[in-house]
Amino acid sequence: MLDKTIRTILVRLAAGPLLILLLATIGLSTQSYFLYGQHQHLLKEQADARIAADLKLSLENHSKKWGEYLIHYGSAEESERWVSFRGSEVETMKLANQLLVRSDSLSLTESVRHIIYALEVLRISYQEARNSLGQAADIRQALRDLQMINDVPMHLVAEVYHDIQQQAQAASAQFWNKSVGLTICLAVLLALCSVLYLRFSGVFTSRLLQREQAAKQKANWLLKHDYLTGLYNRQSLLKKITLLIDSETPFHLVKVSLLGIGAAGQAHGCSVQDGLITMAAKRLESESAPDDIIARSVGGDFLMIMPGRNDDSLKRGLGKLLDRLGQDFSFKGYRHQISAFAGCCSFPLQARDADRLFQYADIAATHAQLHRMDRAAIYDPKMSQAMENKAEQINQLRLALRRNQLHLHFQPQLNLQTGRVAGVEALARLKSDDPKLNIPTTFIALAEESGLIHLLGQKVAELAVSQISRWHKSGVDITVAINVSPRQLDDPNFVKFLNSLCRQYRVDPKYIDIEIIESDFVNSRHPLLEALSESGFGLSIDDFGTGFSNLGYLSHFQPRQLKIDKTFVDAIETDVRRRDLVRSIVDLAHSQGIQVVAEGIESEAQAELLAAMKADLGQGYWFSKPMPAEALDNIIPGLCGEAHSLSA
Ligand code: C2E
Ligand code: MG
Ligand code: MG
Repeated sequence: MLDKTIRTILVRLAAGPLLILLLATIGLSTQSYFLYGQHQHLLKEQADARIAADLKLSLENHSKKWGEYLIHYGSAEESERWVSFRGSEVETMKLANQLLVRSDSLSLTESVRHIIYALEVLRISYQEARNSLGQAADIRQALRDLQMINDVPMHLVAEVYHDIQQQAQAASAQFWNKSVGLTICLAVLLALCSVLYLRFSGVFTSRLLQREQAAKQKANWLLKHDYLTGLYNRQSLLKKITLLIDSETPFHLVKVSLLGIGAAGQAHGCSVQDGLITMAAKRLESESAPDDIIARSVGGDFLMIMPGRNDDSLKRGLGKLLDRLGQDFSFKGYRHQISAFAGCCSFPLQARDADRLFQYADIAATHAQLHRMDRAAIYDPKMSQAMENKAEQINQLRLALRRNQLHLHFQPQLNLQTGRVAGVEALARLKSDDPKLNIPTTFIALAEESGLIHLLGQKVAELAVSQISRWHKSGVDITVAINVSPRQLDDPNFVKFLNSLCRQYRVDPKYIDIEIIESDFVNSRHPLLEALSESGFGLSIDDFGTGFSNLGYLSHFQPRQLKIDKTFVDAIETDVRRRDLVRSIVDLAHSQGIQVVAEGIESEAQAELLAAMKADLGQGYWFSKPMPAEALDNIIPGLCGEAHSLSA
C-alpha cells in the first residue's frame, strides 16, 4: 500500500502531463476541424474555377459563331471591332443597336435581336454572379445561367472567370496562412502550459508535503496531549508511568480534582468551563517542579507524576498547589470559586503497577474530598475498605429509596413569646436494613456524595407538601420547613418540580420554607434561590453562625428566617460573649426584617433567655423531638399556649 501523500503527489504529477496532452488533443482536433472546413471551401473554389474554365471554352465556340454573323452581315470595320472588342457591356449594346437599325435583312435582324436578348440576360446574370461571388451555390447558378446563353461577349466571361480564379487563389493563400498561424498558436499555448506546469507543480507538491507533515505532527501531538490544556493526556502519562516502573524509579502519582467546574459550566456555559480548566492547568504548571509530569484526565481531573520527593516535600508541594488552585478565578467578568482536592499514591511503596496506582490515587482524592479538612490525602489501605463500605451503603440507600423506606419526622417551631406552634421542620428518616445508614447525617451525606440526593429531595418534598395539604384540610394552617442541599439547587428543574407539587396538592408556596445551610447559602450564587423567592417560597438560613456570614447576601436574598445554630444556643447560659453575639444576631436579623429561629433549645433557661432577647421562634428537644405527623397530630392543638409542657 502506498502512503496517501505519495499517492496524492503521484496523481498530481501525472495530472500535469495528462492535462497538457488533453489540451494538445483538443487543440489539434480543433485545428484539424477548422482546416478541414477551410480545405473543403478551397476545393469548392477550385471546382468553381474549373467550371468557369469549361464555360469559357464553350462560350468561345459560341462567340466564334456570333462573330461570324457580324463578319458576314456587318461592315469590315464592324467585324474588326468585334474581333478586337474589349469594351464595356454598354458599348456592346450600342453596337448591337447599330446593327439592328442598319440591317434590313430579316435573318440579320433576328440574329441581332438574339444578341441583344443574350446581352440583356448576360447583364443580369453577370451582375448577380458578381454580387454573390464567394457563395459557391450562387456562382454555380450564375455560371449555369451563362451556359444557357448561346452568344455571350468573351470579355465578360473572361472577367467572371478571372474573378473566380482570383477567389480560388485567395482562398488557397488564406488556407495556408491560417493553418500556419493556428499551428504556431497551438505550439505557443502548449509551451506556456508546460512552463506553468513545471513552475507550479513543484510548489503544489511541496505545499502538500508541508501540509501533510503539519497534519501528521498535529495528529501525533493529539495522540499524546490534551487538546484543551496542552498538557499530556492520560495515555501519555500511563506510558511514562510504565517507563518509571520498568526502571524501578520511585515516584508519587497524584490525582488533583477540581470541584465547582461543572457548576460553573452549567451556570455560564461550556466556554467558561473550558476557560477555568485551562487556567487551572496553568496554575498547576506554574506550581509544579521541573521534573513533575502533568496530564489532564477528564473534566476537572488532573494527574501528576512527582518523582524524587520525600513525604515532607510532597506534602508541602501539594499544599502550595492546592492553595494556588483554591484562589478565586476571574474569567469572563465572573469570579469563580473552585475547590481542589488531591490524592496521592507512591510507587513502589503502596502500589507496584499502573492500574493500582491510578486506583489508589483516585481513592485518596475522593477521601480528601469527603473529609474537606484535609485537602490532600495520601493513600492508606483503610481508605479502600472505607470505599468498599461506602459503595455498599450507597447500594443500600438506593434500595431503601426505591422501596419507599424514607419518611418524615416533624419538629415543631414555637413562638417564643406566645408559645404557639408557628411551624414545623420536616426531617428525613430512613428505615433501611443497615441501622448505621439510618442516621440522618450519614444517609444525607451519602446521598449528596452519590447524587441520590435529587431523588431523596424529591421524595422529601412530596411527603412534606402532601402532609401540609392534609393539615390544611384538617384546619391547621401550618408552615413546614424543608431542608434542601445545595446539590439539589444545581438541578434547574428543582423549582419547577416544587411548583408542580404545590399545584398538585393545592398548597400555597408561602407555607413552605426552604432551609439551606449557611455555608452553602453563602457559597451558592444560584439563580434558583431568586426563582424560589419569586415563586413565593420562604428562604431560611440554617445553622446560622457556622458559615462566614456577611450582610450582603442577607439583604440580597431577603431570607424569611435565620436559624441560630445549636452551638450558640448551647453556650448562651454560660458564655456571656456568645450571649451578646446571639443578641446582636437577633437585632441584626430584625433590622433586615428577618425572623429569628433558635435551634436546639434543650432547657427552659435557654428558652427564656432567647425569648428575652426577642428571638422569634424556638425549636429543640425542650419543646419537642422530631416526631411522625400522626404523633404530632395528637398534640398540635395542645401545643398552642403550652410550649414548655412538651419538654423532653
Ligand atoms: P438541621 O436541619 O439543622 O436539623 C436539625 C437537627 O437537629 C435535626 O437532626 C434535629 O433532630 C436536631 N435537633 C433538633 N433539636 C435538637 C435538640 O434540642 N438537641 C439536639 N441534640 N438535636 C436537636 P437530624 O434530624 O438528625 O438532622 C440532621 C441534619 O440532617 C439536619 O440538620 C439537616 O441538615 C439534615 N437533614 C435532615 N433531613 C434532611 C432532608 O430532608 N434533606 C436534607 N438535605 N437534609 C436533611
Ligand atoms: Mg434544618
Ligand atoms: Mg440546623
